[in-house]
Amino acid sequence: HHPKPGMEHRIEPAPMYDAPFYKGSEKLKGKVALITGGDSGIGRAVAVLFAREGADVAIAYLTEDEDANTTKAAVEKEGRRAILIPGDVSERAFCEKAVAKTVKELGRLDILVNNAAFQIHSSDFEDLTEEHFDTTLKTNLYGYFHMAKAALPHLGPGSAIINTGSVTGIEGSKELVDYSMTKGGIHAFTRALAGNLVGKGIRVNCVAPGPVWTPLNPSEKEAQDVSQFGSQTPMKRPAQPEEIAPAYVFLASPQMSSYITGEILPIVGGY
Ligand code: NAD
Repeated sequence: HHPKPGMEHRIEPAPMYDAPFYKGSEKLKGKVALITGGDSGIGRAVAVLFAREGADVAIAYLTEDEDANTTKAAVEKEGRRAILIPGDVSERAFCEKAVAKTVKELGRLDILVNNAAFQIHSSDFEDLTEEHFDTTLKTNLYGYFHMAKAALPHLGPGSAIINTGSVTGIEGSKELVDYSMTKGGIHAFTRALAGNLVGKGIRVNCVAPGPVWTPLNPSEKEAQDVSQFGSQTPMKRPAQPEEIAPAYVFLASPQMSSYITGEILPIVGGY
């Protein structure tokens, strides 16, 4: 069905947000956060904003590259400490090492941000191999599980675990079948673990972004127009990572969200 000529609604994309981003104050003063995938994209924006809020940050990430050094420098510019911990979150031994190193070098652990993820598009389900499926599950589910397990002995009242989910975990993405499965799993993990840890005073929440302009998406390199990626949202544009990061501060800070646990917070441009 096509609207009659002249009758179609012309809805322009939302203007790109180009006013100053939220700069932070001292909501996380004295705290230590461990952020997986903290070298790049959403994780980097969270690391920098956490530092502005007074936290020291440990950054776990997959491969040695310039991204991690850039993030470390940005955290240090905020006057906070940053340590880099390269390795693979799908391995339990690495997760245990990352937590131990954080506590040894930064003195404590208050906030775990499970954010590292693996994603590859496959347009046909037939093309999705078991090997690919395995990597997705190992990074996105085992990674979150191992990190939460390793962090738990150090967490207590006032601590928070924040998982990065995705809108694909709510409604599924046809080109990301395995990834959508894991993101739905992360949402359920959030709710179940929140209930399990409530008596310890540890809150567990999840941020579920829609399209975000980061290196995770091949479209960043390919897209002619930024509005192409995100065109399915009412705003008709993707988020910038800095538009997602304040939600992590909100969910990490007991001052702001002490009565919130087990929630999935979609940030999806009105989708
Ligand atoms: P990104 O590629 O910028 O950052 C992800 C980082 O995760 C990488 O830099 C890498 O260092 C790390 N990583 C990947 N596999 C790892 C492993 N096995 N071990 C350790 N570290 C590993 O991507 P991003 O878009 O900032 O993604 C961050 C989170 O946001 C992911 O959980 C992703 O699923 C989620 N997300 C992204 C979007 C989006 O549109 N960009 C939308 C919804 C959800």
